[in-house]
Amino acid sequence: MTGGLYSRLIIACAILLSVLLTGLGIVLGQFFPLFSNESGLDLQRKYWLFLIVTLVLAFVLAFFIATRMMLQYARPIDQVTKTAVQIARGDYLARTQTDEFEFDNELAVAIDKIGNNLQEMSMLRTMEKERLKTLIESMGSGLLMFGREGSVNLLNGVFEKTFGFSKSEVIGKTFKSIGLPTDIENLIEEVFMTEQVHEKQVRVDVGGVSSYMSVYGAPVIGHHGNWLGIIVVLHDITKLVQLEEVRKDFVANVSHELRTPVTSIKGFTETLLDGAMEDPVILKEFLGIIQKESDRLHYLIDDLLALSGMERDGFSLQFTAVNLNAVIEDAIRGVSGKLERKSMDVLVTIPDDFILEADADRLIQVMVNLLSNAINYSKEQTKITVTVKKRQDDAVIEVRDEGIGIAQSELPRLFERFYRVDRARSRESGGTGLGLAIVKHLVEAHGGTVDVKSVMGQGTAFQIRIPMQQVEKQSV
Ligand code: ADP
Repeated sequence: MTGGLYSRLIIACAILLSVLLTGLGIVLGQFFPLFSNESGLDLQRKYWLFLIVTLVLAFVLAFFIATRMMLQYARPIDQVTKTAVQIARGDYLARTQTDEFEFDNELAVAIDKIGNNLQEMSMLRTMEKERLKTLIESMGSGLLMFGREGSVNLLNGVFEKTFGFSKSEVIGKTFKSIGLPTDIENLIEEVFMTEQVHEKQVRVDVGGVSSYMSVYGAPVIGHHGNWLGIIVVLHDITKLVQLEEVRKDFVANVSHELRTPVTSIKGFTETLLDGAMEDPVILKEFLGIIQKESDRLHYLIDDLLALSGMERDGFSLQFTAVNLNAVIEDAIRGVSGKLERKSMDVLVTIPDDFILEADADRLIQVMVNLLSNAINYSKEQTKITVTVKKRQDDAVIEVRDEGIGIAQSELPRLFERFYRVDRARSRESGGTGLGLAIVKHLVEAHGGTVDVKSVMGQGTAFQIRIPMQQVEKQSV
């Protein structure tokens, strides 16, 4: 309604002006007889004529003035007022369009500028809001925010997924009524109570799955230092915790593996020094044991160094054209002593001059480990067969024995470091528990795979697949 206020005022003024002019005409009409010597009807006619002319003139004048004023002032002001109201209501695209008016449009320019500025600010705000929303949704951690009054006012997708909540279930609720794990509830409570940052690691069990979270809670403080609520960030550290477990296990295993031969060596040496060395038979027997245990220590340290070398950054293989026939011969030569001791034979089936791109020394290491196991876990006088075939772009090498076999349930863990099916037997045969872990590492460094099939009591077959050509130099 404000839109036409000035126009209506001007119309009212024009009417008032007409009335005033007409009134003036009537008043002036009263002096008519004074200036005329006519009387009666003629005078009255002239009087009316004068009145009508005055009236018409008054209306024409008022109309002219009103139109000029309307065009020049009232309509632009009404238009500017209308635009200002539109902008105030949030329509930042509204503009005065005052170009069509003959009007000193400083006000209109200012209003348009305000509109422009507000539109830009609103665009920036929308962009920032979008950016923040994208950031919150794509940050790999769960996020939960509580307002000053203690109820949830924001959560992201990761949080919903972690706890199986939906936004509509959680928004507006207090932290105690969401159903969060107790440790997280306690942390939130501490942040609310102390208005300080709190951080802890918690174990979360959701839907039968356990995971570890690093939970960080902090008060949200506004620009003027006023307290706006709290924010809780949950970061999944399950993988880190598992890695830490593996590391701890590894250190414990290494310590245990090293301690056993060292204890043995120490014990036998002390017994010898205490007098047992006077007996040449016992001396020979104990020195034999000491030698065996030191060999074991030596193998263990060698394997540990090999593994840690492979796991170090920058480990790379030396790829050349390798004759696999020669590699297998070298490996068999390497285990010939063991083969002889158990009267075992290796039967090799391989096409002549089988050439592939590989690291010869590492491939020999792989074959020695597999052949050693085949010997260690087989009875005397049994046979080992090594078969090499080319399948598509891969070389497939199979090492099959007629040994004790491995239960199906053991197969998934076989390539783990220090995993042994029969600890005593492995120890007896001088095994370190690292052989297959090394095999897997080296085969994968060649871009290949290793597979195992076994039947208890009948034997085991390890199958390696390695690309004939390396696409690019592999490194682990
Ligand atoms: P180890 O030094 O104990 O032989 P490996 O990593 O080479 O360690 O092998 C892990 C375990 O897998 C062995 O302890 C053994 O129980 C089992 N294993 C490996 N190869 C064979 C095989 N050819 N036949 C039966 N069991 C095997």
